[in-house]
Amino acid sequence: MRVLIVEDEPGIALFLKEGLQEESFAVDVANDGPSGLELATVNDGEYDLILLDWMLPGLSGIEVVRQLRKIGSHVPVIFLTARDTVQDTVFALEMGANDFIKKPFSFEELLARVRVQLRGKQSENSRIIHRNLVMDLNTHQVFVDNQDVSLTQKEFALLEFLLRNKGKVCTRSRIIEHVWDIHFDYNTSVIDVYINALRKKMDGNTDINLITTIRGVGYIIKDE
Ligand code: CA
Repeated sequence: MRVLIVEDEPGIALFLKEGLQEESFAVDVANDGPSGLELATVNDGEYDLILLDWMLPGLSGIEVVRQLRKIGSHVPVIFLTARDTVQDTVFALEMGANDFIKKPFSFEELLARVRVQLRGKQSENSRIIHRNLVMDLNTHQVFVDNQDVSLTQKEFALLEFLLRNKGKVCTRSRIIEHVWDIHFDYNTSVIDVYINALRKKMDGNTDINLITTIRGVGYIIKDE
């Protein structure tokens, strides 16, 4: 899952970024309206959610969401703002926002609202099961044959992405777009390193191969 934060207060942006990264999201941050709109436009279809401040330098959050909807973007947008009159809320929703959260807010509340917006994309229950593998998205635990396997945040996000796309080849560029953030330097060999680390942890000493390499294209977890 990849999220764009558009927020000009560095403290809030960092707080959100670190919190979401801990939950295994890939996170990009824009500090003003125009760069937020540009990132959202260029990467339309790649962000699963946008957290958008209302009062922003250059272009207001309202204007950003209005222009995004104008180009046909359906990305869920949650407004972050100290403005909370009924008129403000109605106006933001009419302009295309999906939800509205009043500053100051707790991270727990924000995360709950984020999960509501992503509900359609996340599996109904919070577990992904594949053969002898169980992934618990709430507790961030992975079990193989009921044994707890310890993964780093990126390994977890990578495994989740491959499992959600079970039966489909995931190209390196799609993996980068969905699992890494914009500061990733597009050195695709890093992905191979992560895949190898993940294989070592998931397959152990068995002859099971969870992840199959499609040479020159990417990786697949085959659906049985
Ligand atoms: Ca602001």
